Amino acid sequence: MTADLLVHNAYIYVDRDWEIPSGWIAIKDGCVLAVGDSSNEPEAKRRISANGRLVTPGLINCHHHMYQNLTRSFGPVTNGTLFEWLTGLYPLWAKLDADTVYLSTYVAIAELLLGGCTTSMDHMYVHPKPFLIDAQFKAANEIGYRFYATRGSMTRSVEDGGLPPASVVQSEDVILEDSVRLVEKFHDAAPGAMNRVALAPCSLFSVTERIMMESARLAEKHDLRLHTHLAEDPEEDVYCQEVYGCTPVEYFERVGWATPRSWVAHFIYPKPEEISRLAHAGVCTAQCPCSNMMIGGGSADLMGLRAQGMPVGLGCDGSASTDSASLWLEARTALLLGRYKNGPHSMSARDALDAATRGGAACLGWEEIGHLRPGACADLVIWQMSEVSLAGALSDPVEALLRCGPATAGTTIVNGVPLVENGLPNLPNLNDVLKEHMKQARRIQRLNP
Ligand SMILES: [Zn+2]
Repeated sequence: MTADLLVHNAYIYVDRDWEIPSGWIAIKDGCVLAVGDSSNEPEAKRRISANGRLVTPGLINCHHHMYQNLTRSFGPVTNGTLFEWLTGLYPLWAKLDADTVYLSTYVAIAELLLGGCTTSMDHMYVHPKPFLIDAQFKAANEIGYRFYATRGSMTRSVEDGGLPPASVVQSEDVILEDSVRLVEKFHDAAPGAMNRVALAPCSLFSVTERIMMESARLAEKHDLRLHTHLAEDPEEDVYCQEVYGCTPVEYFERVGWATPRSWVAHFIYPKPEEISRLAHAGVCTAQCPCSNMMIGGGSADLMGLRAQGMPVGLGCDGSASTDSASLWLEARTALLLGRYKNGPHSMSARDALDAATRGGAACLGWEEIGHLRPGACADLVIWQMSEVSLAGALSDPVEALLRCGPATAGTTIVNGVPLVENGLPNLPNLNDVLKEHMKQARRIQRLNP
């Protein structure tokens, strides 16, 4: 059988415990047809040489807020605590509409592709206007990106003891009706899907108990995944104790979220017995090392969680907390952070790469991504580094990927289609989108044109 595309002359990291030092990968109909070593290359309509470079599965981003790239490194709040930073930015985010969300999603996907990320979720939880997630799917589908929208929500504004202004929160009924509408319109459970939807109230302190419980019920009814921020900040413990009379994890369990459907962002401050309870329940965690360190709020112990049986993926988190969105950088930072915390024997580059691929796939509940075994989605990256930064790195390309650098994607393939080639995005509208994004970012930040 002739393949559509053959990536060859590559060091291929196929999956954990399977690497091919000199091999090829054949792609047909958006899937991996076969992998092999250089002795038996199949016929293909198009061939791309990796020139001996490392090829890995596309990285997976399992926590993000793309709209925040309209307010990156926003001066007035850059040195605030998490809650100060949020309250400073909510009035700006209240100006979002479908056009600005389309632009920010397009730019976010371009940035993720250049960092080797082929599937991303997005946690869109401010809704000052309707149909914002529809605008995200428009951008993702135009590009041909594998996109997992999560229908975020907030019901508690400052008037009800929450943080955001009333203009970005919604009523319970509007949230629940729109969740069902989005699932029916976009969610595709097929293995090679390009569009999926999960339900994602912003956090335990920003929505009512009814929204948490109804989201869990809807997820059960429509076979969906559930996502939220959990145990991110010590102030959350104080809030939960005052309002619910328990810890954040106890409340999470009480509203029916401790199930294999759930993955949570951050999970920095659980008690030891709570980690083991949620691991046992099948909950996964998205660690966001750059965002956690930038906000200065602590971070989860990636290898510690894994040792308890909890899968951990990586996320670049909001574009205004991390201010960058490279999954390569997140994987490298996860490696540095793990070793800094627990010593040199605690974590290898392969552990970090596994978190960025299989760990992310576990968070999203998606068997066909995060590896390159035959039958997998054809999402992969040929990594690129300068000859200078790779000079002398001869013995182990996987360790070199995360120890040397900076690395970017030379080629990023999604669903069998190269969306980055020669280090440049294949996105014909990108320049126009960037110009308009700049204009809208100035408007939102109240800067003169
Ligand atoms: Zn977040």
